[in-house]
Amino acid sequence: MRQRNIKNLQERIEANSGCLIRDPKALKGRWREAFGNDRPIFLEIGSGKGRYVLARAEARQDVNFIACEGQENVGLRILEKVEEAQISNVRVFMEFIHDISEYFKEDELDGIYLNFSDPWPKERHAKRRLTHRRNLKSFMKVIRPGGAIEFKTDNDRLYEFSLEEIKESGYEIMEATRDLHGEVSAIESKKFMTEYEERFLAQNKNINYVKFREKSLAAGKGRHSMIFARENGRTVPKEDKIFGISNRAKEMAAKVGKDKVVNGTIGALMDDDGKLIVLDSVDKVFKSLKPDEYAPYAPIGGIPEFKEAIKKAAFGKYEPKGFTEVCATPGGTGGIRNTVSNYSAPGDRVLVADWFWAPYKTICQEIGREIQTFTFFNDERGFNIDDFKKNVLELLEIQDSLVIIINSPAHNPTGYSLSVTDWRNIKAIFEKTPQDKHVALFCDVAYIDFAGDEEQYRQFLPVLDEMPENVLPIIGYSASKTFTLYGMRCGAMICMAKTPAIAQEFKQVTEFSSRGSWSNCNRSAQTIIAKIFADPDLKALVDKERAEYREMLIRRGKAFEAAARECGLEMVPFDAGFFASVPMADPDAVSKELEKEGIFLVPLAKGIRASIASMSEESCKMVPARIKAVMDRLAK
Ligand code: PLP
Repeated sequence: MRQRNIKNLQERIEANSGCLIRDPKALKGRWREAFGNDRPIFLEIGSGKGRYVLARAEARQDVNFIACEGQENVGLRILEKVEEAQISNVRVFMEFIHDISEYFKEDELDGIYLNFSDPWPKERHAKRRLTHRRNLKSFMKVIRPGGAIEFKTDNDRLYEFSLEEIKESGYEIMEATRDLHGEVSAIESKKFMTEYEERFLAQNKNINYVKFREKSLAAGKGRHSMIFARENGRTVPKEDKIFGISNRAKEMAAKVGKDKVVNGTIGALMDDDGKLIVLDSVDKVFKSLKPDEYAPYAPIGGIPEFKEAIKKAAFGKYEPKGFTEVCATPGGTGGIRNTVSNYSAPGDRVLVADWFWAPYKTICQEIGREIQTFTFFNDERGFNIDDFKKNVLELLEIQDSLVIIINSPAHNPTGYSLSVTDWRNIKAIFEKTPQDKHVALFCDVAYIDFAGDEEQYRQFLPVLDEMPENVLPIIGYSASKTFTLYGMRCGAMICMAKTPAIAQEFKQVTEFSSRGSWSNCNRSAQTIIAKIFADPDLKALVDKERAEYREMLIRRGKAFEAAARECGLEMVPFDAGFFASVPMADPDAVSKELEKEGIFLVPLAKGIRASIASMSEESCKMVPARIKAVMDRLAK
């Protein structure tokens, strides 16, 4: 169809270019970056004014869509509609696709829509039809196993041709009809109409429809075998990176000897021989438990003695002024999940630092949220309050509620601890933000008892009590490290609310979520912690034992820092804790080289993380210079 020329076409495109991809070929293999998430991606080839793809995008906001329209004066309409309706899950490019492999890599898409494409009626033009077998083959190649092509046309002859091509190509037809809008058809695609389709329908013209995919899927073979969950749009990740590296470290140690390998991957405190440290005093309590202390279900929110004990564990000598409520969680992780799911809305962004513990992202992704990052450090190597503020304001502008996760002290992966001044500056920001917006400030204190003096590192707690009423501080406490109960999955989320009503809502909503995710938590771990706090002598013993290991960890951290300083290796600002990080441009390449030398560390997006908790003091003295040498070598 010929389109009218549009006045000021380029200016209008420019003014609505938020979702426009100007160089789509450059995104080959990286389309997920264009959306900033890992969700499935569907492509419509020949989107016209975008009615179909935008209706799809509205119905499935948890999925990404690419609209491709070669005519700029038509594609402009899509840009305008996306801009006007503020649609976030659509990207548009305005090119005619001749070779789809130039735009997408194998398996990159989850499906393709071909709607009312040019029938090219002359036989000698058959190869130009989008459903010609040669085209179908190249489309299928960029669709992941299990993904399908959906094709609609009013042209009966083109439809017959297409069915023939589909059969000849050996594809499996999943759904097909010559009358999509006829009474018997319950095909989903019927709900999403193109501009053409509506017009044809008004003229009582039948619409042909077929959905098909590669056949080997049905047979459960080859590249199509593992598709049960993916078919539902679930992310199927590759092997867990950290465990993969750690396994390679173990394999190498078995081959060349433990003394020639440094395994700085695992976030658990190990002795110098690589053995997990378990507090003896805690172990004794565990072994003394009677069946009625571990076997029965615990109440969903936790056993009452545990709730009291865990507050003392989290707050130390500080007595919170606000209204506190406790909900037991499986480790610190459970508290993060419960906070994100209850204090943000589906589709919201959760604010975290740009150096962050990867499961924050997994949790958000799992429940339909995304993360947004602020730059953690400023040029003076301190907490970047300006960028934090900028991101808070930006998110409060577009969201009614906001979850912020701050991991301090002894942050994973950098070892940084926010100062009391940093916390006061955060408070000052919230005093000026709109009071009708709700902020859940999740303080992830997983490493608080391994940073240094336990009371000194709790000095920020009173600042949380001074936050305005619309800010709800939640302490995410983990018994994994403090009591060396990693595998017992014990932790708690504790609110510091300004009113009893907020605290009561916290209790009810978090318990409801717990019931719907893991039911109740581990009773034996709760009993152990309750017993420790009920017996001052035992508590003193646990504290003393932990303090000795903490000193060991602090020595390792200082050794790593000193060695880095000596060889001129820049570290990400470090204070204390289980981890230290080194910034660099190509962490994967450096990590690969280090592995060859028997040093196993974790490459992150912006650097390498060393788990000093699992490295001996000697290794901490040696590793920085080795990292520096590899970086220098690769830079040449
Ligand atoms: N937060 C951070 C930053 C962590 O590194 C961890 C554990 O590694 C946790 C929370 C919670 O861990 P868990 O669920 O084992 O208590």
